[in-house]
Amino acid sequence: MLQTSAIRSILIAAFIFFQAPRADVLRGEYGRYRANNDLLSYRLDIRVDPEKKFLSGKNTIRFRMLRDDTRIQLDLASNLNVDRILFGDVSLQYERELNAVFVNFPETLKAGRVVAIDFRYSGVPQETGRFGGITFRKDPSGHHWINTACEGPGASVWWPNKDQWRDEVERMEIRVAIPNDLVDVSNGRFIGKTDLGDGYTRWDWLVQYPINNYNVTLNIGNYTHFTDRLGDMTLDFYALPENLEKARRQFVQAKSMLEAFQKFFGDYPFSKDGYKLIEVPYSGMEHQSAVTYGNRFANGYLERDWTGVGVSLKFDFIIIHESAHEWFGNSVTAADVSDMWIHEGWATYLECLYVEHAFGYDDALRYVNGYKSRVQNRTPIITPRGLHRSPPQDMYFKGALFLHTLRNVVNDDRRWWRLIRDFYERFAYRNIMTEDVVQFFNERTKMDLTPLFDQYLRHAELPALELKFDRTSSSLSYRWVAAAKGFAMPVRVGKKWQWQIIQPASEWKSMPWAPANEEFEVATDLYYVNVIRTIG
Ligand SMILES: [Zn+2]
Repeated sequence: MLQTSAIRSILIAAFIFFQAPRADVLRGEYGRYRANNDLLSYRLDIRVDPEKKFLSGKNTIRFRMLRDDTRIQLDLASNLNVDRILFGDVSLQYERELNAVFVNFPETLKAGRVVAIDFRYSGVPQETGRFGGITFRKDPSGHHWINTACEGPGASVWWPNKDQWRDEVERMEIRVAIPNDLVDVSNGRFIGKTDLGDGYTRWDWLVQYPINNYNVTLNIGNYTHFTDRLGDMTLDFYALPENLEKARRQFVQAKSMLEAFQKFFGDYPFSKDGYKLIEVPYSGMEHQSAVTYGNRFANGYLERDWTGVGVSLKFDFIIIHESAHEWFGNSVTAADVSDMWIHEGWATYLECLYVEHAFGYDDALRYVNGYKSRVQNRTPIITPRGLHRSPPQDMYFKGALFLHTLRNVVNDDRRWWRLIRDFYERFAYRNIMTEDVVQFFNERTKMDLTPLFDQYLRHAELPALELKFDRTSSSLSYRWVAAAKGFAMPVRVGKKWQWQIIQPASEWKSMPWAPANEEFEVATDLYYVNVIRTIG
């Protein structure tokens, strides 16, 4: 049974990989023409025509060659036009394959050389993906409202870049020319605006930290703006004028969010750029230093008690969840989409930490267990590497329940708080894989947690604690039934409030148990496991 499930997981992974559309491979693979260079900076300089839904401009891409080569891979949606790719005065040759653009240089670029090219493009981008990628809408009072949210389909749906997760620029300038009556809110620090004299104004933003491509955002609309501070840090809020009062009331929660996460993980990671919260027509997105918000200025998630246990309505899910990504997702980043649980599992767990900080441990325990009803346990959270495909929804809820389980395996809260803070600090501003996470936790706890990570992230099924009661000898036998080799995890059992910790493994062990079978409990609100009871 164990082998069957492991083999099934491998077969499913192999099937997905070989059935993958070429576009997902081009997008997901970190192949030779990506690995031969290291991004340094982007300067995106574009004009947005809201009437024609038309974009034009250029991205100046600076990178350092890591190996001698004559070609690099960039990406731009196939429906957008490549106008010219300039290397100094030289117009470079290129080949397009689906959404990839392979750029050829007339000479070998030596390792170590820093190169800048201007990638000029134009066209009408297509709406795609869960949040539209880029959308040209009107707000309720009839003004243009243009927004980007492209994590799934990729930033190359609206601008040319090296569209993968492993490599990030160190900094970025974003210059957006739009009709004079509109406002653009992008990432980073607002530098200034320039009237171009032709009915357009250019808005300049500077990102002073590494940034994911998909975090780069345009938010163009009839925005009104108000500000606040938290210590030295600027907080900037943008809403439509008709929602200003609602925004002033609801966005107060950004402060308690920042206080909570700064308590657990240290300073807000992008303080030079400031924290911004921006109203948008979709539910929300974690755009770095420019978090977008569309949760109707109400608590819960779209006014619902999201986890169904009476806790969600105490706070605004989108403000807390999307901002949690500033620490996990934007600062600590997965190097491949297959490891996206590092963004979503952790951000969902940070919701639980926020609840614990704001409303206490009992609410946090109810909140995290409320997520169980949303877990499917059908496919592993970690998907095949090198293939651009979003992992299953379990990466959110099961990911958070796994971290909650890990806290109880560590079984010392002071140690746990230190551990997760050190984990964050160790990998801040870096792009990492699950292997890095496992290695860190193994080293720091001096435990072999690899089978736990494997069971929860690389297998679909939950571990099951099998209990066999023997009335004649007043004892019970117990073992773990799990797919991950060597799975062993301590667990609290017995009577509530008088828990005892046992150390089940894959072989049977036994313990005395005289009371009735039904009185034997497993602390399943502390460990996300199944329990199988048999009476011998
Ligand atoms: Zn998220």
